[in-house]
Amino acid sequence: MTEFKSKMMYKELVDLYEALTSTTKRLEKTAILAEFLKNTEAEILPIVTLLSLGKVFPIWSEKEIGIGLKLLMKAISLVVGVSVDTVEEYVRDKGDIGFAAEALFENRLQSTLFKRPLTIVKVYQNMTRMAEISGKNAQTKKIRVLIELLTSASPAEAKYISRTVVEELRVGIGEGTIKDAVSEAFNVDKEVVERALMLTNDPGLVAEVSKGEGEEGLKKLTLKPGKPVKPMLAQLSHGIGASVEEMGTAICETKYDGFRVQIHKKNDEIKIFTRRLDNIKDAVPEIVEYIEKCLPHEDFIVEGEIIATKDGNPISFQYILQRVRRKYEIERLRNEVPLIMYLFDVLYYKEPLIDLPFGERRVILQKIVKVEPSKFELSNQVIVTPENVEDAEKLFESSIKAGHEGIMIKDPFAPYMPGIRGKKMLKFKAEPETLDLVVVGGTYGRGRRANLIGSYLMAAQDEEGNLKTIAHTATGLDDATLLELSSKVESLMTEKKGRKVKARPEIILEIAYSEIVKSPEYESGYSLRFPVVKRIRDDKSIEDIDTVHRIESIFNA
Ligand code: ATP
Repeated sequence: MTEFKSKMMYKELVDLYEALTSTTKRLEKTAILAEFLKNTEAEILPIVTLLSLGKVFPIWSEKEIGIGLKLLMKAISLVVGVSVDTVEEYVRDKGDIGFAAEALFENRLQSTLFKRPLTIVKVYQNMTRMAEISGKNAQTKKIRVLIELLTSASPAEAKYISRTVVEELRVGIGEGTIKDAVSEAFNVDKEVVERALMLTNDPGLVAEVSKGEGEEGLKKLTLKPGKPVKPMLAQLSHGIGASVEEMGTAICETKYDGFRVQIHKKNDEIKIFTRRLDNIKDAVPEIVEYIEKCLPHEDFIVEGEIIATKDGNPISFQYILQRVRRKYEIERLRNEVPLIMYLFDVLYYKEPLIDLPFGERRVILQKIVKVEPSKFELSNQVIVTPENVEDAEKLFESSIKAGHEGIMIKDPFAPYMPGIRGKKMLKFKAEPETLDLVVVGGTYGRGRRANLIGSYLMAAQDEEGNLKTIAHTATGLDDATLLELSSKVESLMTEKKGRKVKARPEIILEIAYSEIVKSPEYESGYSLRFPVVKRIRDDKSIEDIDTVHRIESIFNA
């Protein structure tokens, strides 16, 4: 384990958390965080940056603390000297494990005679140790390491240790605030910081380089196989003709309705990252086989869409998610629901390629992929200008007929822009737009359905990342999915009053609706008419949900 000299106290970080919680204004949060980062010793700056986001490891790291709410409650009960039931009661009452821990520690009976003040390094090292424990009796060993921390913790420290362990810090800091604060603290350009974040997904590293080497250093950070990059995103096209006209020349491709993946190969190790930057390699063994067969030996990063099929036709991408969720059924699903990979971009081959125009990247992609029909292919595409725009329309029609979602319209001269939803890549779909919203609560049914949460309270996010409710939705799911959703929400429940429950915001649903209307009934000020759940979006994370701003602009349009 790395040796650290820093003696900076964890209490100082806790004071930062409290200060950040005391305001909802993004600018104030940024100033508070910037000041703190500026005064943090260089040695622990990466750790502090991650911890201020409530993380111990970068998002793509496969390391996990591996302590769930249950085990945490047990640790708290042992340290405080109360039953697990009492801890559960507190959690229900306070609606949050952090507040519950704080209150319990305030009323703590057991002696705190041997309390040793906690340093940031100590907290970080114990969290890392927990992640490294596996195998026999792992849980018992992990809980011991956690108890060591909690025994020395003050009530406020216990609150934030608990929240960090379950990865729910609740101080309202997202990547946007980190970007602004790093830029302010070390006097580096915001856009340069943003690009470095998108490329590395490593806020700790970005803060460290900003402090140590400034903008010059940041500019040298580039993508590396093995570490996922934020995907480039698409804006909505309002018409094929107008979009092609605006672009001049466009590469139009079939929009496959599947699961977007970034495939990395480094020194023969293959990783397949989802949009949430999880490595799902083990869930798709046949894709791994084709990667080995159809792609070169050198290091690379390519991107594409995996779709599920039945009798050769595309089917709902939920089938791929099923594999990711229920790992044990992979062999059966592999035969029942064959997958097809469609590659559409290359970001790295022997060297970073993201600054090359898309047209050139595509040529490289074509050179390095050995196509295997109906298994491992390149996205179908046509090059169009306003003169032959009907070729794009034909591609749209044939794509829809073949059961795909629509087309993508891409600028052949554009570089790859990680994490950016810009005008260089557009999507045109047959179906109306939907919203991705997060479940924040629900209501149990009546009578025969009294054991099932039948209606879900959905929320969007505002500019600061605060959740704002917008609708209740009840319909659209088959019985099996409803059952699964209901029990998932139950496992995230933080409060239950009568038939109504509140839940930790983790499950993202794609919602179709007939109309957006103004409504004082919901926190967002808007509501949806006839909202219907289209599917569970396990591939998206809470940062990806739609914003009140977007809802407002759809309403205004
Ligand atoms: P949607 O819900 O419409 O898929 P999204 O929010 O998931 O949107 P967008 O970036 O808005 O993502 O839409 C582009 C998505 O379309 C990509 O993320 C990718 O998953 C998918 N896609 C399918 N076919 C292609 C293709 N040929 N090129 C690029 N992206 C494609």
